[in-house]
Amino acid sequence: MAENIIEVRNLSVEFPLSNGTVHAVNNVDFDVEKGKITALVGESGSGKSTMAMAMLNVVSSPGIIKEGSIYYKGQDILKYDKTESIKYKWKEVSMVFQAAQNALNPVMLIKEQIIETAKAHDARLKESHIIKKASELLDFVRLDPKRVLDSYPHELSGGMKQRVMIAFSLLLDPKLVILDEPTTALDVITQDYIFDILIKVHKEMGITMLLLTHDIGVVAKAADKIGVMYAGEVVEVGDVYKMFKEATHPYTVNLMNAAPSLIDDLKDKKPIIGLTPNLLIKPTICSFYERCDNAMDICKSKKPELSNAESDHLVACHLCNKAGVMK
Ligand code: SF4
Repeated sequence: MAENIIEVRNLSVEFPLSNGTVHAVNNVDFDVEKGKITALVGESGSGKSTMAMAMLNVVSSPGIIKEGSIYYKGQDILKYDKTESIKYKWKEVSMVFQAAQNALNPVMLIKEQIIETAKAHDARLKESHIIKKASELLDFVRLDPKRVLDSYPHELSGGMKQRVMIAFSLLLDPKLVILDEPTTALDVITQDYIFDILIKVHKEMGITMLLLTHDIGVVAKAADKIGVMYAGEVVEVGDVYKMFKEATHPYTVNLMNAAPSLIDDLKDKKPIIGLTPNLLIKPTICSFYERCDNAMDICKSKKPELSNAESDHLVACHLCNKAGVMK
């Protein structure tokens, strides 16, 4: 049986604002399987980044984790004390945030930033040890360590900066790395190159990964498992082959039909018609109801729950009964 490194249970995250409360993540259950690459896919505002922040207990203000638990190796990280929390972040789980390349300090050399980051987590580390480790990691992500360590961020390309951030995330030997939109803003060839490197890190260093992306097409090469988020909810989870061959939830199907690829004619691609629901209103019916071509009466009276379509395939849709048979 698969072993999970993270288990999210009944997680809800809210952002109280002056005009109401944004329900960013609603009662989500989600597992990150140990030793695998899991992708969490969804359009902007679907809640995937908020959920990842919650997995590190770093939801930005005014956000609050309203309810739920996040189990790491069986312990709820939301109950960690300060010391446990510091150890958990970076040493157990690290994260490369969205547009992370822009997070590099423009007036500091890369080596100064690496030393500062490592010492912030363990002041006892010697600079010589940090530089040796950083050099090995930069070499591992196919960068010239000497050149990169003595560079300022503006002297590196976007793809090089992203690889520096991946090396940063590995500095303290985490077991799980979360990468938020790791290839956004990079050209297609660099995207492919970054995924090659992530697969190498995963396979050769044995690191579990969670990739967050709005582009379901880009994760096909790397992911073992895909979860799809819509309007703060996980609506489908399955093995990557099953998801590409037999996606079941109407939103996932539409997402697949909208994703451009190198082999399909762009004229055959269809946008998803309609708007995402207002997140100020906590959903009590299927969140995809207004945009769904298959909507039925039950969909506006009963909220579908994420349940087994097959043993390793979960779907939150009234179209799919428990035996995985389309009604
Ligand atoms: Fe469409 Fe109903 Fe399924 Fe929602 S539950 S996705 S409205 S068929």
